[in-house]
Amino acid sequence: MTESASQERLLLEAKGITKRFPGVLALDGVSLSIRPGEVHALMGENGAGKSTLMKIIGGIYQPDGGELLLNGKPYTPKGPADAQSQGVSLIHQELNLVPDLTVAQNIFLGREPMGAGLLSEDKAVKQATELLHRIGVTFDARTLVRDLPVASQQMVEIAKAISFDSQLLVMDEPTAALTDREVEALFKLIHDFVSPTTAVIYISHRMEELMQISDRITVFRDGRFVKELKTEDTSRDEIVRLMVGRKITAYDRPENVRDPDATPTLEVRHITNAMVKDASFSVYPGEILGFGGLAGAGRTELARAIIGADPKTSGEILVDGKPVTIRRPSDAVDAGIAYLSEDRKQFGLVLDETINDNVAIASLKDFTSKIGLIRDRDIAKTAKKYIGALSIKTPSATQQVKNLSGGNQQKVVIAKWLARNSKVLIFDEPTRGIDVGAKQEIYTLLDQLVQEGHCVVVISSELEELIRVSDRILVMCNGSITGELSHKEATQERIMELATTFRK
Ligand code: ADP
Ligand code: MG
Repeated sequence: MTESASQERLLLEAKGITKRFPGVLALDGVSLSIRPGEVHALMGENGAGKSTLMKIIGGIYQPDGGELLLNGKPYTPKGPADAQSQGVSLIHQELNLVPDLTVAQNIFLGREPMGAGLLSEDKAVKQATELLHRIGVTFDARTLVRDLPVASQQMVEIAKAISFDSQLLVMDEPTAALTDREVEALFKLIHDFVSPTTAVIYISHRMEELMQISDRITVFRDGRFVKELKTEDTSRDEIVRLMVGRKITAYDRPENVRDPDATPTLEVRHITNAMVKDASFSVYPGEILGFGGLAGAGRTELARAIIGADPKTSGEILVDGKPVTIRRPSDAVDAGIAYLSEDRKQFGLVLDETINDNVAIASLKDFTSKIGLIRDRDIAKTAKKYIGALSIKTPSATQQVKNLSGGNQQKVVIAKWLARNSKVLIFDEPTRGIDVGAKQEIYTLLDQLVQEGHCVVVISSELEELIRVSDRILVMCNGSITGELSHKEATQERIMELATTFRK
């Protein structure tokens, strides 16, 4: 096939697709062209409309305008099953498995393979096991989905999607929860999957990943099509520029306003447990303290020991110079220490509830009258205040949190803890799953928090981010704090050096 002929033949074409939600024009006449044989990355900041278009392609939403063509013919999927029967499979951002069924049952839900004319569990298990092997995972197909970690659940979704004879596989942030090894297996899978008659649409926030895996890139911004490019002809910088519509400039941290005689807001002395070895540090008002290290270095474990989520065998914690006893997470909250987990969806938010409810959830006592009534009007007032102060982008405070973008969800978690008067905010991977533009906003917000007198601890595996946000950086390796770097001293090399310094 000549180049021009192959360009004319499209596997999937979206033309002028429009989609409106209450208060939001999610898609404003967007186009997308997918050629057979390609991996096509769809890029855009949070809220750009990527997932909405994918859900339309996957038959979950109906468009308000525009048309879809599959192999040149009108394609109007009535639902996900209809899309699948036409060879289009969608792997979502949100998990869609039934927790109380096994892996095999989930994969073949609604179309169990028949064995000798009977529904055969054995056969399902056998086929599921083969599928799992193909994507490089080893857990038992008879495991209940509820017993698997999030990343493994995601692999089950992927196995399920490829079990349909798909010609188009849509992956909406499939790697957000995966380990590096699983990502590698996934890439191999995508490679194996793509043939001259099939294609993959791939959505991810990880830029390196996209440059590695895609043939072409389409960029959306604010519900509109911006540009289509060949990956080999473009650069990270160009894509970021197209995504945010402005140049992101290098950033200098504001001068540290720390008072040399100040009492630390949080002081941690000699914390030790199974994962953490004799960790001591202080955080002062007006500073951001960063924690660097490789995965498994003990940073999250240290945070969990501090807030009483994991036991500690020894150690002391002082807030504003006074010892506090923290046995469980609620003690930490009472002491003014908030931990913002990297897994916002699992620990930080109630996704089906509104912004109002999520903001109030940690402070219900403050919002309850003497006779036990919840003061909804005060909640609404508080939520409104934080929607303004943190620039949470939402049509209203009664919006369900699950409809917000990742960046705005993170802001709701912050609002929740500010409403609870937290003095120390410990952020674990504060921008995981959040886009470049929204990341900048979160960074600005962290600066704002310290300027208002909070103290902020940031655990981050992204070196650039760690250096960008921290006034000081502590580096951990194998459960120990192995060194401290000032903002001026911090370079990626020095952090990596300390991150690989093993102490006995
Ligand atoms: P992306 O995947 O690019 O981050 P989305 O497609 O999820 O963007 O969202 C596009 C816009 O539509 C956002 O403003 C989002 O808040 C809104 N939106 C998405 N889904 C819904 C929904 N079910 N109800 C209301 N608004 C929604
Ligand atoms: Mg999305």
